[in-house]
Amino acid sequence: MCIFCDIVNGKEKSYKIYENKKTLAFLDIFPISKGHILVIPKTHYENIYDIDEETLQEVFKTVKKITHILKEKMEINGVNLINSNTKIANQSVFHYHVHVIPRRERDNLNFIGEWWVKKIIKFNGVELDEIKNKLIK
Ligand SMILES: [Zn+2]
Repeated sequence: MCIFCDIVNGKEKSYKIYENKKTLAFLDIFPISKGHILVIPKTHYENIYDIDEETLQEVFKTVKKITHILKEKMEINGVNLINSNTKIANQSVFHYHVHVIPRRERDNLNFIGEWWVKKIIKFNGVELDEIKNKLIK
């Protein structure tokens, strides 16, 4: 069974923040910052590959709404949006979800900044052309 489907159908408790016909937003119970929220479609889709575009749009409309709620109610002026797809990308719950992670000054959440900088790979112009051509042909 799917823990997020159980949250949608009320079998599992959740700290609901916002809900509409197609989507649900609730507090992550393993937050990495105060106000860390998950946004999910109410229908079960595993990941970015099987979710349909219309539902994805609905999810991101709710994501945007959540960012504004965080801004108004918690004075959050920066967020990271994280969405992991498949085990290779460390997806842990296999029901499509987007993490909305509030950021604050000096919050020491350098998981993106540092990681990003340390992992930069240098490709030359020829290699970048090869990659581009592979993707657009
Ligand atoms: Zn599910």
